[in-house]
Amino acid sequence: VKATQQHTKEHNRNLVLRTILEQDGISRAQISRVTGLTRTTVSEIVAGLMAEGLVRETGVGSSRGGKSPILLSLVADSRQVVGLDLGPSGFQGAIVDLRGRIRQSVEVPVHDRDGEIALASVHRLLESLLGGGPRPLVGIGIGAPGLVDAAHGVVVNAVNLGWRNLPLAKLLEERHQLPVKLLNDSQAAAVGEHTFGRGYRSDSSLVVINVRHGLGAGIVLNGALFHGDGGSAGEIGHVVVVREGGAACRCGNVGCLETVASIPAVVSRAQALAGHAESTALAGVPGTVTFDLLVQAFAAGDPVARQVVLEAGRFIGMAVSGLVGTLNVRNIVLSGGVTRFGEPLLDIIRATLAQSTLTRLARDTRVEYAQLGRHEIVLGAAALVLKDYSLLFKLRGPRAMAS
Ligand SMILES: [Zn+2]
Repeated sequence: VKATQQHTKEHNRNLVLRTILEQDGISRAQISRVTGLTRTTVSEIVAGLMAEGLVRETGVGSSRGGKSPILLSLVADSRQVVGLDLGPSGFQGAIVDLRGRIRQSVEVPVHDRDGEIALASVHRLLESLLGGGPRPLVGIGIGAPGLVDAAHGVVVNAVNLGWRNLPLAKLLEERHQLPVKLLNDSQAAAVGEHTFGRGYRSDSSLVVINVRHGLGAGIVLNGALFHGDGGSAGEIGHVVVVREGGAACRCGNVGCLETVASIPAVVSRAQALAGHAESTALAGVPGTVTFDLLVQAFAAGDPVARQVVLEAGRFIGMAVSGLVGTLNVRNIVLSGGVTRFGEPLLDIIRATLAQSTLTRLARDTRVEYAQLGRHEIVLGAAALVLKDYSLLFKLRGPRAMAS
């Protein structure tokens, strides 16, 4: 019975905290109405949250007769989290507050595919973030590329980092004495966008399609990240879309979506076409088409660049159609380096969606670029920790001195 009471207490406390997080400047009476908890219970819980430094009274609201209500706000800086984005070409890290504001950020380049060196870079990144004096830190969140076992904190396979079955969460927990949570990068991007992006309702659904070195989706259904039975929901990059004559994929298969729509894929396609085309800014520089060059050529209306982006956009649009047809999620968000192609790429994806799914479904779907830009995976990794409200009450040791 005692355990159940404790559980209920924690549940109610987290519910009140979440309500204040979602509706800044809310009164105790409003919290009571929203949560269904009694006024007395809410007052007790709020007193506890204020004692913890998480919440403070910020003013007086208007009243319709009677006593004016006191408004409550979250103290955004009272807890902080480390977010890491272990991208294949560089690692980003940041210290993030409860409102998703970046207080400090660091980047380290990664050139090597050697697993040991990559791990040493993670340590270096964390040391430089954690070395800046005492902070009220509650945990570390990580978005890692490749196949990730989030439940056990293990990177199952990240080819570009040379990691196989690496118990990353455990290694970092032991070294830094902080809880560590791990997701794959596309899933982290989805959590970040949903939590800190365009003001999505907390129970809304969202699919983020993250296209950078790899290609994957993160799926948030009714406010919760959908992991799938084996934790690999959203691995759309390795669905085969080219049946004949497709390119070999790093997963071992042939013709995966990633081989036609990821950044390396569009660059190598541009390279191949440039060799045959007459009038293109990309010709004459064989072997040197870079993504930057392709983005510039596309913006300048170069025909080869346009063909390449059109092809990739159609493939991405087909993937979106599949997701929309299956899930009927109305918010589809594209993130990662491909966002540099701008509005024309979105138009191609929207047009493909309109042609390949039910008119009513396509009409109700919004396809947009991510709001958070280059920090979205860092922010998503941080949000992953913050969403575990219990961690916010476990501030211990010298790190708790600040604020
Ligand atoms: Zn593949």
